[in-house]
Amino acid sequence: MIANYQIPSELLGLPNVKAVRYQITGDERIEVFIESSLEAAVCPECQQVSTQIHDTAELQTIRDLPMWERQCWLRYAPRRFACATCRKTFVERVAWREPGFAHTLRYAQHIYQRTRREDMAQIAQDEGLSQDMVRGIFERGAKKRSPSGATRS
Ligand SMILES: [Zn+2]
Repeated sequence: MIANYQIPSELLGLPNVKAVRYQITGDERIEVFIESSLEAAVCPECQQVSTQIHDTAELQTIRDLPMWERQCWLRYAPRRFACATCRKTFVERVAWREPGFAHTLRYAQHIYQRTRREDMAQIAQDEGLSQDMVRGIFERGAKKRSPSGATRS
């Protein structure tokens, strides 16, 4: 069954994100289509605020915390801005995603918490993840918590 419904952004609870719609795509799976609600982004090159959207990338699939007892994937198309000051283009950065990975920060935290008391193979099976992915989350989480490891952005 594929159904399209509106979903209140408050339910999602991600900063500066609006939920556009969602699809129930299986017995245990939901996909939520999201967009950034910010009108502007800061250019990483010259630190000026840009409001001109250059283009939008293809939809990405990003794992998030379960919703309604279903495994939840966010569908998100990163926007590329064009900086009017330095003429460079750049992809917007979002605070809720673990940079470079196909899951949200809060999902990584959730998995990390589980790895501290549960077997990684079991977690991988429960969550439909590869064991490598679970181990990667554990290792990055452990590094962040080490005494020298101030939280890196
Ligand atoms: Zn710039």
